[in-house]
Amino acid sequence: MAQLKDYLNQVQVTLTQRDPDQSEFLEAVANFLPALVPVLKQHPEYIQANILERVIEPERVIQFRVPWLDDQNQVRVNRGFRVQFNSAIGPYKGGLRFHPSVNLAIIKFLGFEQTFKNSLTGLPIGGGKGGSDFDPKDKSDGEIMRFCQSFMTELQKYIGPDLDVPAGDIGVGAREIGYLFGQYKRLNGFQNGTLTGKGLAYGGSLMRPEATGFGLLYYTAALLKSQQQSLAGKRIKLSGAGNVALYALEKATKLGAKVLTASDSKGYIYDPAGIDFQLLQQLKFSEHQRISAYAQRVSTAQYVSGSVWQAAIKSDLALPCATQNEIDGAGAQQLVADGVKTVVEGANMPSTPEALKVYHQAGILFGPAKAANAGGVAVSALEMSQNSQRLAWPATKVDHQLQTIMQTIFNQVIHAVETYDLGRDYAAGANIAAFTKVADAMLAQGIV
Ligand code: GLU
Repeated sequence: MAQLKDYLNQVQVTLTQRDPDQSEFLEAVANFLPALVPVLKQHPEYIQANILERVIEPERVIQFRVPWLDDQNQVRVNRGFRVQFNSAIGPYKGGLRFHPSVNLAIIKFLGFEQTFKNSLTGLPIGGGKGGSDFDPKDKSDGEIMRFCQSFMTELQKYIGPDLDVPAGDIGVGAREIGYLFGQYKRLNGFQNGTLTGKGLAYGGSLMRPEATGFGLLYYTAALLKSQQQSLAGKRIKLSGAGNVALYALEKATKLGAKVLTASDSKGYIYDPAGIDFQLLQQLKFSEHQRISAYAQRVSTAQYVSGSVWQAAIKSDLALPCATQNEIDGAGAQQLVADGVKTVVEGANMPSTPEALKVYHQAGILFGPAKAANAGGVAVSALEMSQNSQRLAWPATKVDHQLQTIMQTIFNQVIHAVETYDLGRDYAAGANIAAFTKVADAMLAQGIV
């Protein structure tokens, strides 16, 4: 055991020496490796084949220049990335993020997490991620289109329906996917299996926009049910105001919970009566307003600037749906003080290592991101199936499959927890279940 821990430590040290500045990536690997100790004890073949060093090294990293013309006819330049992390179980699959914070460390952490998330879905998809430090926020529609066209002019060389299938993430929604697909089609013909998250009119899947948020709540319901609890009457502290958050809000409300908060990068809204999901969706999706507009319309609500995780709000459950590392140690302690007993992650790696420690010490029931937010990429894989079949499935069929997939993911986590006697360490269970499948596929395929 001690020897194994030393070995894992050495793997982490080597990685840190190679990429000392890639803090988010190093953090994701450091959260992951220690969970593998019990598996490695039983499977020395993984160590013999050096699976660990192989699995933390992306198969390929692509970085490129993205020049584009702004509305003042000035030439602007951004940086584009695609990290093709692991193709052991299928073509690279994962979103594109357009956000000023994007750099190689962030795309690598997301690609690493995506590899294992995709493994948990049980569907044949490998892991990848990409994006750019382009900020779509203050750009005109024409600027967004020209940026997407330039981005795709380079990216198209490296993707395809059986090779690498990008989708959306933060800053990349239906509009951006449309422009990216238009340019891909111009250069390669109508192969719509190359991107997912497409519009319904040209090969998108029903329920894809809802999938991550709805899936998050299906997972939460399964987790609570295993403790003889349900969502009915639960008070929820939720963050974010994007796709994941807004559909999580809808499903949580429909399952009988009361969602008290939602947030954006500037502040949060607090509505003790429970946020009206229809109104917030209308404000965000149709009127493109900031969340503060909600507080102007609803008398029970208030808008507060600052982080929602610093606010003292009595609640039972937390659903972080904004971005990485949004809950730090102090935020986690605030949750415990609020009375929160369950945390389920909608965003990718929203809890810092310090926050994870606080959850552990407080005995918080925990749904790790790679299991709980896998519904989005799962329905992306169903979109790929529909594109291959040249069919469009009804919403009920997609939703039913999504529910089955989320329950199956939960069952896999529980199975790993029971097999390796992990107590309530569901994060370790998710890591083990996800890793085993990727590692077995890599072993079977030899040294490649
Ligand atoms: N960006 C989403 C995620 O983090 C979805 C990726 C996809 O649909 O390929 O899982």
